[in-house]
Order: sequence, then structure tokens, then C-alpha cells
Amino acid sequence: MAEKNVLKDKLFYKQENGYDNFSKAEEKLMNRYAEGYKDFLNHGKTERLCVKYCIELAEKEGFKEYEAGMKLKAGDKVYFNNRGKAIMLAVIGKEKLDKGINITGAHTDAPRLDLKPQPLYEDSELAYFKTHHYGGIRKYQWLSRPLELAGVVILKNGKSVEVNVGSDENDPQFIINDLLPHLHKGTDEKNLNQAVPSEVLNVLVGSVPIGNKEDSERVKLGVLKLLNEKYGIVEEDLFSAELEIVPAGKARDIGFDRSLIAAYGHDDRVCAYAEMKGLFDAKNLKKTGVCIFADKEEIGSVGVTGMQSDAFEWFISDMCKTQKVDLRDCFKNSFCVSADVNAAYDPNYAEVFEKINESKINHGVAFVKYTGHGGKSGASDASAEVVGKVRKLMNDGKVCWQLNQMGKNDNGGGGTIALFMANRNIDTIDAGVPVLAMHSPYEVVAKFDCYMTYKCMKTIFEKA
Ligand code: MN
Ligand code: MN
Repeated sequence: MAEKNVLKDKLFYKQENGYDNFSKAEEKLMNRYAEGYKDFLNHGKTERLCVKYCIELAEKEGFKEYEAGMKLKAGDKVYFNNRGKAIMLAVIGKEKLDKGINITGAHTDAPRLDLKPQPLYEDSELAYFKTHHYGGIRKYQWLSRPLELAGVVILKNGKSVEVNVGSDENDPQFIINDLLPHLHKGTDEKNLNQAVPSEVLNVLVGSVPIGNKEDSERVKLGVLKLLNEKYGIVEEDLFSAELEIVPAGKARDIGFDRSLIAAYGHDDRVCAYAEMKGLFDAKNLKKTGVCIFADKEEIGSVGVTGMQSDAFEWFISDMCKTQKVDLRDCFKNSFCVSADVNAAYDPNYAEVFEKINESKINHGVAFVKYTGHGGKSGASDASAEVVGKVRKLMNDGKVCWQLNQMGKNDNGGGGTIALFMANRNIDTIDAGVPVLAMHSPYEVVAKFDCYMTYKCMKTIFEKA
């Protein structure tokens, strides 16, 4: 019996719960980290707000805004703000850029409801905003729950106005009403997607008519009057706007043991915060470290602020130019962790998972060799060498980690920015925090996994 266990110990891979090997001192650090992360979430309900708060934190850490052709030396810290919706931070290393850089890339856009270009209308003496869902959502999750509004409006005169209603205690909030159970008969037999058609996702924004009884659209007029008084907005200004309906409420601890955090937007702000803090805290960088908050990941990393944009090339090549380095030499020797969340194994929905290979709560940062759909389509599929490299880095750095996939074969899947980084001739692998109820308005992560993802990112900057 004893002999068998020795052999098992020697040969088996042991997947342990992180708490079985976690010191009280580290637990303290973890809890402090979790408080900072919750603050980040509460400040960053949209990609724009994440960038804004990131700049605030980065400037406190000594980062300066990057200017084209800037002369930089080891230890210098800069950030490149891409149109207020994406950002890249860099800490200059001792080695020249042709030796490669260490990149961590997360995204700060999250599934939500965007206002349509002409959102405001009145029906049956109630005023509503029409929306268009952004990213993968299960529509029923957005019904009958408190919502807030955030974004920007560009006025006729070109001035930008920031709008934020619903986050302050004294603010009103918004709602999309669900159907009452008493009148559910016609919809109960429909599948979830059909039962809540997209065009039902209209947000209730007012009910008081103003002006003459004989006039039409008096409730809509009342809402516009309030918007005009507060922000100087007229209806046409809503054309040149990016206004997002997002879940209201703050990040909260979950469970009697407070080991989990529920919030909107863990995907992927939990990794964005981890890489940002990892870069802030990393010491004596040999290679230049770059941390990215990308936009538009949830709709394919497209557009000028998405990870397929040349903005990344511009920033890195401009730094290369001052060192007379070819961008392609830099990329060829670079390493990237595509920092994105993974679906955590949920025993309540066991049928969609392949238990052995799924990421587990409290088992640490989840590396993912490949994402994609049926037959790995759309994955960058990290090589054995790349997995070998991170395996050594994580074990040497005492980071609790796991290697996973996402869901049963052919049962769906997902993508990240990994393939777009790999396309640039950069060795890339996915790694991030396991999430329960991913893409719901109230996702859940474990503090332990958040903290280990931070340690992972810091290790990548210091040692990769
Ligand atoms: Mn993601
Ligand atoms: Mn996602």
C-alpha cells in the first residue's frame, strides 16, 4: 500500500486546492489585493472608465504619457492612451527592444447593452431607450434588474460630455421589465432566446408627461428636457454618442468565508487589473514590459481600439525607432500572455463541462493552451515549448496554476486576443481567472485565483 502511494506521488499530477498550500501572510496580501480590485471594478463600469482609472493609478506610480520619438531609458514608465478606450503601459527594461518584450494583454470591454443611434421613444405614455446588445449575452439575465447608464455624448459644438447616471446612491436607475408569471403562458414553451427577443430589451427611462394635453410624445419631451438641462443634450446629439447600459451596483464579497467576489465585468477586468498591478509591482525588468487594456474583444478585437488595430504596432515601433530596432526583430523575440478569463467548472451545469480539463475555483491562474470552437477553430494553440516555458516560470515563481480548456468538445467555445498576437510572430498563450456565470451581469471569481493571476503576470514581467 505504502509503496503504491510513493509511486503515485512520483508519477501522478496532483491538482490541489490552493488553500491547502497557502500561508497566512499571503492570505493577507490576497485580501488587500482583492480590495484594490473591487475599487477598480467600481470605478470601471465601461472600457472608457477603465482607461480613465488606469491613467489615474498609473500616474501615481510615475507613468507619463508617451509622446512620439520620446527618448527612454531603463526604468522609465510610459502609457499610450488610444482614444480613451484602450491603453498600453510600458516599463522600459535594461535590454534593447530587439531582444523582445514581455506583453500581457487583457480587454476591458464587457458584454452590455449599447443605446441605438435613435434610442429615445415613447409608447403608451412611457419613455424608453432602444438598445443593441454588445458581446455574448443571455438576454433574460438583463430583465428586471437595476441598470445604470454611462458613456459620452459629442455635442453639436464638438464638446464631449460625460454621462453617468445610476452609480451614485442618490441617482435614479433604469430597468428593462420582464413579463409577469400570470401572463407567461405564451412564452413558457419557447426557448430562452425566443422568449426574450432582442427588440424587447428597451430600457424604461420616464413616465411623466409635460406641456399641453393635446400634444403628442409628452413623456419623451419630459425626458429630453431633463437631459438638456443636465447635459445640454438635444435629440440629434444622441447620434454622436456612445452610451452603455450596464448593471448597477458594486462588487461584493460572496460566501460566509468571503472567499469570492461577485461583480459585473470580471471578464476581463479581473485580468486587466492583475496585469496592471503586476507591471506596477515588477522589479528590475530585464526586458521591456507592456501591459495592454484592449477594447472590442467581445466582438472580435476589431476596430481602431481592438487588438487587431495597428495602434499596437505604432506604439511599439515608435519605441523601437529611437533604439534603431526593427519592429519585426522585436516581435520575433517577444512573449505574450493573452490575459483572459476561463469558464470555471460549475457542478450545477456539469453536463456542459469535461471535468478533468476544466479550470477549477481556488486552483489558481488558469492557462489555456487553445481556445476556439469545434476542432480548435479560431485558436492560436500554444506550442509545447511555450507551455513548457510558462510551466517552469510558474513553478519556479511559486504561482499556483492549472492548465485547462473550455467546455466539452463541440459544445461551444470562445476566443481571446491570443491569435491576433500570435499572428504578429509573437509566442502567445492564454492565462486568466476562472469565472462562474461568465458574461452574466453578475459574474463570480475567487480571490485566490485573482491573486494568483496577479502573481503570474508579475512573474512574466520579471522572469520571462
Ligand atoms: Mn474575455
Ligand atoms: Mn468574454
